[in-house]
Amino acid sequence: MSDKKTAIITGSTSGIGLGIAEGFAQAGINLVINGIEPAAEVEAVRAGLEKHGVKVIYDNANMMDPGEISAMLMRAEAEFGGVDIIVNNAGIQHVAPIDEFPEAKWDAIIAINLSSAFHLTKAALPGMKARGWGRIINVASAHGLVASPFKSAYVAAKHGIVGLTKTIALEVAEQGITANAICPGYVLTPLVQKQIPDTAKARGISEESVIRDVLLANQPTREFVTTEQLAATALFLCSDGAAAMTGIALPVDGGWTAH
Ligand code: NAD
Repeated sequence: MSDKKTAIITGSTSGIGLGIAEGFAQAGINLVINGIEPAAEVEAVRAGLEKHGVKVIYDNANMMDPGEISAMLMRAEAEFGGVDIIVNNAGIQHVAPIDEFPEAKWDAIIAINLSSAFHLTKAALPGMKARGWGRIINVASAHGLVASPFKSAYVAAKHGIVGLTKTIALEVAEQGITANAICPGYVLTPLVQKQIPDTAKARGISEESVIRDVLLANQPTREFVTTEQLAATALFLCSDGAAAMTGIALPVDGGWTAH
């Protein structure tokens, strides 16, 4: 990356998206951060990222709404003159057996975790093609490669985004644009903290047992993956050194999918 770049990171007011935003800001990349919180609640985070000497704007486009997604891209292009990198990261989770899984939760997970990546990619590609450079990074999951019970919508969306990643990569391979998925194992973010009580209920075990015997049981390192490790991975995928890597689903999972 020789010249100054601009990135949109969806779902970046918290957790992994915020960690990637920190890493990108430190690397001198201008940012659009995104979430569903009111701007006032995110102002301290936005201003903190700007301390790294980059420009950061907050856009609260709802990833369930295709019109809001393309409007966010247009606002970013107007502000920065172009969007070079998109990180499709926004995501939610719901844990329940299929026969009890609420239809509205299924629809929301497919919309936010999968369809939003299609809509933002569709909006961003014309500019990337015109400039002959682009990086599309989809934050999938180890659940993009393997399943777990009680997470039907999430596993379906994450397998779907791995397929979308491969398709984008093939379509734009000759135009200086790469598309890759990062597949994290468990990271101790609010998304994971919130599912611990539901998993305990679904499996009939204690919350301590969920952390030890369910979450970290899958991770041979017995450690949560960190947001800093994921930011470093995303930055590498943006680098010129990664120009030949495209269409991959890269596990960063403490060995989980080596099983
Ligand atoms: P998080 O709950 O900490 O953050 C989610 C972010 O998404 C927040 O910024 C929130 O505002 C935003 N968001 C939620 N709904 C939105 C909507 N409708 N429109 C716009 N933004 C919305 O979650 P996280 O753990 O950091 O997860 C981020 C991504 O990483 C998700 O795609 C998740 O599936 C994936 N992931 C997480 C883990 C993990 O263990 N935490 C593991 C693998 C993959």
